[in-house]
Amino acid sequence: MLFKGKNAIVTGGSRGIGLKIVKALLTEGANVYYISRTKGEKHGELEKAASASGASVYWKQGDVSKESVAEVLADIVKEAGQIDILINNAGITRDGLIFRMKTEDWDSVLSVNLKSAFLTCREISRVMIKQRSGVIVNISSVVGIIGNAGQTNYSASKAGLIGFTKSLAREVASRGVRVNAVAPGFVETDMTKKLGEKAREALKTQIPLGRTAQPEEIASVVVFLASDRASYITGQVLVVDGGMAI
Ligand code: NAP
Repeated sequence: MLFKGKNAIVTGGSRGIGLKIVKALLTEGANVYYISRTKGEKHGELEKAASASGASVYWKQGDVSKESVAEVLADIVKEAGQIDILINNAGITRDGLIFRMKTEDWDSVLSVNLKSAFLTCREISRVMIKQRSGVIVNISSVVGIIGNAGQTNYSASKAGLIGFTKSLAREVASRGVRVNAVAPGFVETDMTKKLGEKAREALKTQIPLGRTAQPEEIASVVVFLASDRASYITGQVLVVDGGMAI
């Protein structure tokens, strides 16, 4: 097991990509604390994965866009002691063409997708620096690299996360802390459910591998970056998009 006895925090672990990240970390032996506004319907599935590997899973209610997430993190640090892995995964979309976009749609996307990473990393990087070890993985998006009509707010937040990742990686590298980002393409989750069949088929024509991704295919890359197998990788963006951005 890659993470036996290690402690991980995952934001937005109640469903979608985050759920599969939590499950994959548990399977590799990590004790996982996941933070989301709701517990989700799959906690039982996570408990099964935890007991199979001798790990533990804990849900902590929290809103990562709010300063109050610092208290949730402080509780976790107190409980867990050491924090080895932080995955900033929570994210939302509020799509619309710019001339119709409400300021609150801009603000909420930037807060949940980008400010959240600032808030969590401010707390946890302090812990990791003291430990002189730790790994942070931020979930960006391929649209933060190539852009997407109707997603100025979302792509700005995801491009922002990339700059954030590179700057933080430079800040903490000398203390033994690595920081990387994963930029997924189109992944089958609640977030992408809204897209109609016609649009989905059109999209597939732009993906060289000819299909969308399953959340497990993102989780496995996150596991790699969080593990010692990636011990010499920091400040990088790993694009996991079936070739969309080639
Ligand atoms: P999802 O299925 O909609 O899940 C989103 C997760 O984030 C849920 O666990 C949700 O839990 C949590 N969350 C949302 N707002 C939150 C808040 N304010 N505080 C705490 N937790 C919050 O989305 P997904 O597709 O798995 O996306 C996961 C990440 O991957 C996001 O950052 C997304 O931008 C990125 N991504 C997704 C795709 C894709 O195609 N799906 C592509 C590229 C990147 P609660 O609702 O219970 O709070």
